[in-house]
Amino acid sequence: MSVALIVAAGSGERLGAGRPKALVELAGRPLVAWSIDALAQVAGIEQIVVALPAGATLPPMVGAVERAAGAPRIVAVEGGATRSESVLRALAVSGQDAPLVLVHDAARALVTAALAETVIAALAAAPDADAAIAAMPVTDTIKRVDGHGAVRETLDRSQLWAVQTPQVFRRAALERALDVPAETLARATDDAWLVERARGKVIVVRASEENLKVTSPLDLSLAELLLARRTPGGCQQRS
Ligand code: C5P
Repeated sequence: MSVALIVAAGSGERLGAGRPKALVELAGRPLVAWSIDALAQVAGIEQIVVALPAGATLPPMVGAVERAAGAPRIVAVEGGATRSESVLRALAVSGQDAPLVLVHDAARALVTAALAETVIAALAAAPDADAAIAAMPVTDTIKRVDGHGAVRETLDRSQLWAVQTPQVFRRAALERALDVPAETLARATDDAWLVERARGKVIVVRASEENLKVTSPLDLSLAELLLARRTPGGCQQRS
């Protein structure tokens, strides 16, 4: 059994929509609704906790999702000042019994139940790992550049992966990793890094380019095109 935490409390300033990103409309529904819908279909997830911006409420579709047979309970919590604080707040209200915790960024609205199940299965199949994370090998050449625009280093692309969510953790490992000062939490751009610095073992699971992060208006248009390619009603497919 597992719980899913969806962090959706970011401001989304880069999207320039004048409202929190989670509430921006994507193909007719608030962005966060797509992730809730996908993760509600994942086998073994018994609860979904959504960290929302202050004052925001869960989208109306949640009632219908919860009424489906075997659907998880869905609860909202107010997010924190940083992404990791939002994770911490969501974790605090989640059921303590579930040994696995899946963390997902609402910004990756095209996540599928199949991808989440693949990441959960990868962790279940690796008893010595503390976390399994969705990721893709990078296709661009990556250079380290200093503050003056001068290239300092070209990294070996064959070893580089671009990390996504879902990220799935053994609960105890995630709790230990998040038990750090607020300054450290503020530096974390994903939770796996916090596990790595606590000397935990993290494994990558090859994901999909479609699992893109909606950051800019261009990403929003691309996400709409990709959703339109799915089932005729625009519903989430399981594969
Ligand atoms: O902007 P960033 O890449 O950090 O956002 C990743 C995810 O974290 C987004 O889904 C965003 O809504 C969420 N977030 C959050 N609370 C914050 C900042 C970001 O839940 N304070």
